[in-house]
Amino acid sequence: MGKIIAIANQKGGVGKTTTAMNLAASLAVLEFKTLVIDADPQANTTSGLGHDPKSVNTSIYECMVDGIDVKEIIHKTDLEYLDLVPSHIDLVGAEVEMINLDNREEKMKEVISDLKELYDFIIIDCSPSLGLITINALTAANSVIIPVQCEYFALEGLGKLLNTIKIIQTRLNPDLEIEGILLTMYDVRLRLSNQVVEEVRLHFKNMVFDTIIPRNVRLSEAPSFGLPAISFDADGKGAVAYLNLAGEIAQKNDLQKVTK
Ligand code: ADP
Ligand code: MG
Repeated sequence: MGKIIAIANQKGGVGKTTTAMNLAASLAVLEFKTLVIDADPQANTTSGLGHDPKSVNTSIYECMVDGIDVKEIIHKTDLEYLDLVPSHIDLVGAEVEMINLDNREEKMKEVISDLKELYDFIIIDCSPSLGLITINALTAANSVIIPVQCEYFALEGLGKLLNTIKIIQTRLNPDLEIEGILLTMYDVRLRLSNQVVEEVRLHFKNMVFDTIIPRNVRLSEAPSFGLPAISFDADGKGAVAYLNLAGEIAQKNDLQKVTK
């Protein structure tokens, strides 16, 4: 059975999408059958993996609301082991339309539960909000990765996110685990970056991944080619860091590959 990991932080620009794309691609390179679900109306993961969001008319949202089978909207990517459920801009109004549904927090879970047999990992890229779609993702997930940028105000909002996770664990998903806090955009030359690493490790101890993602221009350039960094600059320090993260997660989870 595959593992569902949500990438969440209601703060924008902390590296959620970069992590979703590149972690998923790295797991795929390690021959884990992997699916990325883009649950952000900005659809950056969709375009970053080579699909034009303007040509997408069905996303996870239509599956949740209109009962469309998610298996029908799985797209291939350039990597053999990596598939994508794309997003598009119309997801913006989704939360309002969902308010009247029964079990509205559990729609995503219902929709993707069958996919666990088909994939080793399902990675959900969340939007920068703690709205209903993110709550759905956290309710569907087995665990959550929280990217934290090595910058000013790194810890801002983290208390609120951890509190939301606690509420979801109490009410909706008692088995939800924190897979780890991931330090991103680390710059070894900056004192501030090093201070953030120290502070986060001091507070959160072994909740923090050993792997730290460096600031690396290739990671920000790769999406404009519609590719994850590993397909574009495999030896670059950004791609290597995400490969290390994938290794850390694979080792911790010790899954039996569905493909083997
Ligand atoms: P989020 O999804 O949390 O809003 P993104 O992953 O889109 O964050 O990252 C925000 C911006 O920072 C993007 O332009 C992205 O390319 C860039 N970025 C993210 N991680 C890195 C990194 N490690 N090094 C350099 N640029 C990065
Ligand atoms: Mg994003």
